Order: sequence, then C-alpha cells, then structure tokens
Amino acid sequence: MKMVVANWKMHMSGAESERFFKDLMKEVTPGGVEVVIAPSNFALYSLSKIKQWQFSLAAQNFYHMDYGAYTGETAVRQLVGVADYALVGHSERRQYFRETNKDTRRKVAAALSVGVKPILCVGETAMERENKETDDVVRDQLLAGLADVTPTQLKDVVIAYEPRWAISTAKNVGVCTPEDARSALTFIRQQLKELYGKTARVLYGGSVKSDNIVSYLKKGEADGALVGGASLQLKEFGDIIEATKAVR
Ligand code: PEP
Repeated sequence: MKMVVANWKMHMSGAESERFFKDLMKEVTPGGVEVVIAPSNFALYSLSKIKQWQFSLAAQNFYHMDYGAYTGETAVRQLVGVADYALVGHSERRQYFRETNKDTRRKVAAALSVGVKPILCVGETAMERENKETDDVVRDQLLAGLADVTPTQLKDVVIAYEPRWAISTAKNVGVCTPEDARSALTFIRQQLKELYGKTARVLYGGSVKSDNIVSYLKKGEADGALVGGASLQLKEFGDIIEATKAVR
C-alpha cells in the first residue's frame, strides 16, 4: 500500500492540530493509502486519542534514551502507544540541530527496540549534488542509519529520499524531476538489496503537491511521499491523498 506522510514541522497549536486532523479525517475516504501525520510532539498525544481508521501518527523527533534526566527531550519510550512511526534524520534536524549519522543510527535502533517504526530521511545538499556526491552521501546516511538494523527489522523501516535543495523552504529551491527521484530511489533500493537481499518502502520528499504526486509515484517509482508545506493545507493534502489512492 502506498504511504503519504505529512510533516507539519513546527506549525499549528495543539487545538489547531486537533481541528485540522478531525477535518482531514472527514475530508478523505478510507482505504487504499496509509496516511501518516507527523504533528509537533506537543500535539501527538491528543491526536492519538482521536485517530481513526487508516491514519497513523509519527513523531518528528525524539531522543534515543529511555526515561531520564534529559530536560526538554522526548524519550523514545514516551512514543509507545502514541506514535506508530518516527522521522529520523530529517534534513532540518541535520542542518539546524547538527544531527549526525551516529545520532540517526542510535535513533533508528531505539525506535525499533520499542516497536516504533523509523522513517529514515536521507538526501544531499545542493553543493553535494553539484560535486556529484549524491550517491556517496546517500550511501553513508543509509549505512549509518541502518547499521544496527537486522534483516528481520527491515520490514519496519521506511526510507525517505529528500534532496535538501528540493524542499520547498530551501534557499533557491530547485526542482527534483521524477527521473532524478527515480535514479536516487533505484540507488537506495540497490544498496538495501546489497545489505539485506531485499528492499524496504522508499518514499520521495521535496515540494510534493497534488499536481505532481502522481508523477513521483509512477515515473519516479516512489512507494509514497513525505509532504511538508502542502500537508498544511486541508484541501491540497486531501487531494494528494486521493491522487495517491488512484495509483496502483
Ligand atoms: C519536508 O520538509 O520533509 C518536505 C518534504 O517539505 P516540502 O514538501 O515543503 O518540500
């Protein structure tokens, strides 16, 4: 089944998140696609109480340790029963909060250890792409993030390829064509096959909208999408979900 993940980033109050989620559950009809909402961690618990049918929830971030003296952090165990998934290594975490490949390794392992499915984000910067380092960077991020993942655990891991230069809030945002996306996704699947003899779900993220989602799924061969800006508009995000359902 295709997957669409909404990354709400640091937007919306708790009440606004709840209202949006309720409206979205009314707007879209069940079936055909797994919709994952990643609200701010602050809103996660209340959304988990009202979540219905095919919706899942994701944390945008967490700390790899269990409970403890880590002021301001969300423990991986606090996600249990609340979040089905958790983003790991989103480019904004890597860029603004200096998250390293070592952090992503720990987070992926910690999430899996408590039954939360990690969505490991990988992708190169504009400069790395210019220097023809895309494959190198993506491989390093994959190898590090998955270092402690066993073949049995791979089915619970989702990979999201997000070229940083194509994220809608990037400076001088560029267009990642479905062909560009396909070549990165193919590379990721090859790496997974080399490592595990099988692949995982691989999503595309970067300025996905209702008028281009189908091309990323069909020509880009993505198993779904990670959507930032467009997931904050009810009608637009509803259209993305409906368009995804139509792709078999
Ligand atoms: C993101 O931040 O993960 C993202 C893909 O954002 P956008 O869809 O706005 O480019």
